[in-house]
Amino acid sequence: TKVVVPIETLDSLSVKSFPLCMRQLHEQLRLSHHLKHGGRLQYGLFLKGIGVTLEDSLRFWRDEFTKIMDLDKFEKQYAYNIRYNYGKEGSKKNYSPFNCLKIINNNVGPGDCHGCPYRHCDPSNLKNRLKGYGIEHQALHDIVDMAKRGHFQIACSKYFDAVHNTDLGLGINHPNQYFEESEKLLK
Ligand code: SF4
Repeated sequence: TKVVVPIETLDSLSVKSFPLCMRQLHEQLRLSHHLKHGGRLQYGLFLKGIGVTLEDSLRFWRDEFTKIMDLDKFEKQYAYNIRYNYGKEGSKKNYSPFNCLKIINNNVGPGDCHGCPYRHCDPSNLKNRLKGYGIEHQALHDIVDMAKRGHFQIACSKYFDAVHNTDLGLGINHPNQYFEESEKLLK
């Protein structure tokens, strides 16, 4: 049976168990109460993948978006897409969360928060963000260096080790795999 992840745990999970691409989307959503389409899709499918139910997803996005818009607008413009992600609208396909390759190769424009930060953030922003998360010294240097050299998934693996205080050097190819590896360790 699949684990159900309650949305009340997302703030702490985003710190402990989300890869940077999802942590930044979560924080941006909390901060601005909005995400653009690319971010809603990337983060929404990830949440489905970790075990957030459709009902909880609707509540999660609704609680944030209705801080800046009325409920009617949310229901008309955004709720459909959330149900769509869960295969409840349109072609009723069961959409899979994106893997790293797809996220890394995404088109990311100015003002977008989706994509892979190791690829799409400029190195000084990346460095500051990681510092803000308490990552320092050699780990900080190694992550930024790998990102600069185009080894985005290795940078991600080094971030994993820095956050978990491990030295596993995991091969990361999917944000949901990252999450599962983290949960395994923290159990
Ligand atoms: Fe996300 Fe994959 Fe980039 Fe890691 S390497 S931040 S999991 S897209």
